[in-house]
Amino acid sequence: MINTKNPPPTDWPKGYALVVHEHELPGDMVAQCESWGVSAPGYPILTQLFGCARFRFCTTPMRCEISITKGEADFVMAHERMHCDGWDHIGSASFRDAWIAYKVNPRAYCEAKANGN
Ligand SMILES: [Zn+2]
Repeated sequence: MINTKNPPPTDWPKGYALVVHEHELPGDMVAQCESWGVSAPGYPILTQLFGCARFRFCTTPMRCEISITKGEADFVMAHERMHCDGWDHIGSASFRDAWIAYKVNPRAYCEAKANGN
């Protein structure tokens, strides 16, 4: 659930490129989300992963990628779009923390990403 009490950083990047990866099978979407380091709490036992988003600060222009099963409900896409706009889940600050880490040292951040970290 999005933490609506903790808005994104005011300098969150605008004008990024939105890239949506649609998958025919949920399993393909899950595999891609996991390759991005995204998993739902307790997955696969307790919850189902409906979609995921990752923000790429190191591309030109910056990109936000969404992975989703084809035909998934509109609320799932709306949720992932909020991540693209910098909103985090309750109990998480992963999007905010990534933006802060990037701003502190863009070169080091992007070199680490290029090395697969
Ligand atoms: Zn989410």
